Amino acid sequence: MENINKVIVSSCRKYDSEEILKVLTTHIQKLNLFEKLKNSKKILIKPNLLGPHLPQEAVTTHPEFLKAVIKLSKTQPDKQIIVADSPSVLNFEEVVTKTGIKQVCQQEGVELVNLSTYPTVDFEFNKFNLKKITISKIIKEVDFIINLPKLKTHSLTILTCAVKNMYGLVPGMTKSVYHKYAPHPKDFLEIVYAIYNHARPDLTIVDGILGMEGDGPAGGEVRNFGVVISSIDALAVDWYILKHILKVSYFSFYKSSQLKPAEIIYEHIEEPLQFKKIKLPKTISILSKFPSWILDILKNFIWFKPKIDKQLCVRCGKCYQICPQKTIKVVNKNFEIFYDNCIYCFCCQETCPYKAIKTIRSPLYEFVLTIKDNLKQLLRW
Ligand code: SF4
Ligand code: SF4
Repeated sequence: MENINKVIVSSCRKYDSEEILKVLTTHIQKLNLFEKLKNSKKILIKPNLLGPHLPQEAVTTHPEFLKAVIKLSKTQPDKQIIVADSPSVLNFEEVVTKTGIKQVCQQEGVELVNLSTYPTVDFEFNKFNLKKITISKIIKEVDFIINLPKLKTHSLTILTCAVKNMYGLVPGMTKSVYHKYAPHPKDFLEIVYAIYNHARPDLTIVDGILGMEGDGPAGGEVRNFGVVISSIDALAVDWYILKHILKVSYFSFYKSSQLKPAEIIYEHIEEPLQFKKIKLPKTISILSKFPSWILDILKNFIWFKPKIDKQLCVRCGKCYQICPQKTIKVVNKNFEIFYDNCIYCFCCQETCPYKAIKTIRSPLYEFVLTIKDNLKQLLRW
């Protein structure tokens, strides 16, 4: 237990599984996890397989990264290693093929499991009119869980990384349904943390070599962070990323009890990594500081919303399928969002494989942000 909030951070610039494996071997030694991993017979590796994206788009866990983690797990020949996730979109085959994950699993001879169709278990929640939360039963069947998130910003929760990756245990479309119960990010995070507390991984390893900034987790810009981060404690990993990489000074909807300050250990580098300013999602800048009752008052003047760019849309219908409010409709063969019922969960943007759903802000919101930026510039002078 003594290593519970140690976060090991290493510089790693390219996707070379041998190089990554060297880094990870040091990490698990530092975390004293080697024996536990060696003695575990059935290991679950949970990557981020958000949707059908190419590895270089930095939306999903990179296949070379996964390969290194599989090799790390093969400490004994008799181990059963399972790679599993539940993408929001329905076509698992398309996702695992396009991301390169299927090929790596075949090469390494490990099982690849679709958690959207896997048996489930429920646990009691009793909040926001949501009595029970359903997650994959697989967590009860394995004796070591490796959580393998990608370092990305997130339009709803600022960050999608260590804790949020375990939300992938919720089968397929049920993920978007839970947004209906908790539309405010603070409330939604309570669901995310409840799942994490119910299914705590033994080890979290962040693929932060290529990540995403801006309107993540799928519609942002690729960013070369060049970093690999490991810990036993996903809460400490997210704390480190929010504080030292995204440099978010306010954690307004991350309750302090949900984040755990970490002891940071830099390995393979001379001095702490410095990250130049990261672009945060357009949704975040100001609104996340306010409670929901103030947002309700301001909503007619200061707002942001998803909008489909007709030039980029290929009419695949994935946003239509995922929308928990069924507020995306087909009009004259084009997909359109009708905002009356929209809860601004951004599941549509997260799911669109073509970055065709943009975030737009009200003129007043843009004006306030311009003033804020100008003031910042003036203060620097
Ligand atoms: S917006 Fe994106 S997900 Fe929706 S139909 Fe168009 S391309 Fe598909
Ligand atoms: S349109 Fe998009 S943001 Fe609005 S409810 Fe549907 S999925 Fe959520």
